[in-house]
Amino acid sequence: MLTKVAIVGRPNVGKSTLFNRFIGRKKAIIHDTPGTTRDRNDYEVNWKDKKFIVTDTAGWSGDESVFSKDMERQLNLAVEQADIILFVVDGKIGIHPFDAEIAKQIRQSKKTAILVVNKIDTQAEETKGYEFYSLGFDEVVFISANHGRSINELLDKVWSNIKYDRTTKQAQEVLKIILVGKPNVGKSSFVNSVSKEERSIVHDAPGTTRDSLTVNVNFNNKDYILIDSAGLHRGSKMKDDMEYLSTLSTDYAIEDADVAVLVADASQGIGETEVKIARLLHEKRKPVIVAVNKWDLIEDKEQAAKYFTEQFRERVKFMDWADVVFISAKTGQRLERIFQEAEIVYRQYNRQLTQEELNALVRDAVARKPLVRKGKVLKFKEYAQVAVKPPVFIFSVNDLELLHFSYERFLENFFRERFGFHGTPIVLKFRQFF
Ligand code: GDP
Ligand code: GDP
Repeated sequence: MLTKVAIVGRPNVGKSTLFNRFIGRKKAIIHDTPGTTRDRNDYEVNWKDKKFIVTDTAGWSGDESVFSKDMERQLNLAVEQADIILFVVDGKIGIHPFDAEIAKQIRQSKKTAILVVNKIDTQAEETKGYEFYSLGFDEVVFISANHGRSINELLDKVWSNIKYDRTTKQAQEVLKIILVGKPNVGKSSFVNSVSKEERSIVHDAPGTTRDSLTVNVNFNNKDYILIDSAGLHRGSKMKDDMEYLSTLSTDYAIEDADVAVLVADASQGIGETEVKIARLLHEKRKPVIVAVNKWDLIEDKEQAAKYFTEQFRERVKFMDWADVVFISAKTGQRLERIFQEAEIVYRQYNRQLTQEELNALVRDAVARKPLVRKGKVLKFKEYAQVAVKPPVFIFSVNDLELLHFSYERFLENFFRERFGFHGTPIVLKFRQFF
């Protein structure tokens, strides 16, 4: 089964225009959707190395002045059958009451959704679309379906949300681990060391704009895909940090990887470039393991381990949940640990708390540290975990104004204290409860 993408939104926002954009790029392959009586067609869209199916949903009929049960039913049907939802809104008009209704239904489905602000015909109009951020979607893209503006960016977003090609069964079970780190820290030595003669497949990772080197490795009878983010850069090695960083920010390999290993050089420590890479991984919300390589060069290992750990904690505060491991690609020391850690952090990345666990956590957090400001008490009215990879929690509070960063920080620490979430980012979002 290919990933199904549904385009939803109220009338006249530009759904059909967008749909035609999608299928207009390539000769459309028409699939029959079994079990649907209405006139619906599925079109296959190819983008980079992945395929998905975009569904031509029938337009809404009937009275368009109220959000009717029928509209809700049609929307739910489309959402139910989709894996990824493109929620289209009209950037020229601004938020319409129906948009809020639709947003609510989509959120309840807990499916992957991308908010598509359409009719942003020029860059200058983009600011007009910012109000749509209040609908609370993580992924937002400003496009013009008519003019073809930022359609590629939208396709890229869809691409990165297609977790694996469901036609190949193997990809689902094999962890993809990407090595990131500036030139000469030892990434390719790492790959060589673990793949040895076993290096079975060497090719450019499909779908990457730049060249990454991908190898299949087997550790403890388990298969992994290891990706060197700077692999074969146009046949030659990358020269400087700047070049590497700019490559990295556009490299799809990170989006596609399950776990990232930030490789640093023990003879240099955690510098500016490592901080920048960490920030990028943080933005992409990937689980991370920090590997300090060339450990064989270090004499006083105990002192150095303490020093590097503290240095990382100090300079990369926003990633204090990542573990630091000391390795040698040259001698093979602790390379196995990286794979064990990858399994652990990936499980945390996928962790779903039960509502009971969450209830208890909120109760205890409030008991430990009630938030009172200007005589008002912060209350958590509703809360839920709405996503994994990474875990995302949404809290509706009685008064959003009461919140401040330090309390959010306290809550995140409280989550980690109780549930670990070792090695993975978690996202806490707060909303005004109405
Ligand atoms: P649907 O009802 O959501 O399928 O919307 P349509 O695709 O039929 O588009 C509704 C109207 O909006 C049409 O007149 C389109 O030409 C117009 N439209 C669609 N996309 C854009 C866009 O990017 N910019 C502008 N200015 N108009 C658009
Ligand atoms: P990349 O640019 O990150 O892929 O780095 P390379 O794997 O090409 O390594 C750069 C240099 O560091 C090479 O000269 C390697 O031999 C050396 N190197 C890599 N790993 C280690 C290690 O664990 N110990 C030592 N002593 N040298 C290493």
